[in-house]
Amino acid sequence: MPQRIGVMGGTFDPVHLGHLRIAEEAVEELELDKVIFIPAALPPHKPGMSILPFVHRWNMLQLALAGHPRFLSSDLENRLPGKSYTVITLRRLHEERGEDAEIFFFVGLDAFLELNTWWHFQELFRLAHIVVLRRPGYVLDDVGDFLHRKVSPLFVDEPDSRLFRHPELLTVHYLRNSCLAISSTDIRRLVARGRSIRYLVLPEIMRYIHENELYRTEYPQS
Ligand code: ATP
Ligand code: MG
Repeated sequence: MPQRIGVMGGTFDPVHLGHLRIAEEAVEELELDKVIFIPAALPPHKPGMSILPFVHRWNMLQLALAGHPRFLSSDLENRLPGKSYTVITLRRLHEERGEDAEIFFFVGLDAFLELNTWWHFQELFRLAHIVVLRRPGYVLDDVGDFLHRKVSPLFVDEPDSRLFRHPELLTVHYLRNSCLAISSTDIRRLVARGRSIRYLVLPEIMRYIHENELYRTEYPQS
């Protein structure tokens, strides 16, 4: 049996309980063997915005994932030259793992509905099963509409299994995950304003942010 591997990409600036909880729920729901968190080195979607240096985002991710039996991280995108493109990352994972891996790429609904702006986005649907995660402020019903208009009209909804099937492309899952109104943008803003971020991030992350004096000034938001 091929390993079922979840991939969670993102900026993780910083990693928060929203990321961790939805990954936990997806692992259980889809019976995955593990989830690899892969922080972007230079996210193509956030040009001109200041993003914390990779090493801080990476250190916080290590603190957040420590001790979890199924959560791993990879610095693959930091080792690749140039911008971070998910298609390149997923191709690389396939090269490393060969035939014995089935990849499930996690994406929040906000990011999914912009997937058509990603580099070579059509190929994503051949490289990985897509797992769309609910996020407050976005409507799950828009998933089918997006797939039909931007990817292919041949996707067929199977509501009992909560997925779309396609004759050639991999499946697109949509989970009934918890809706957690937590975002890194809000966390950075709270820290800059001297407000508490308790219960939005793990205590270890809160400590790391304060010890390293991160996010003290508000920088341009997306
Ligand atoms: P920012 O506000 O800086 O964009 P973020 O909270 O959206 O940060 P990212 O690192 O951009 O976090 O997100 C990585 C992935 O996790 C994306 O696919 C995003 O949609 C998803 N995600 C982040 N937070 C949540 C959440 N609370 N619920 C569902 N999905 C989420
Ligand atoms: Mg985001």
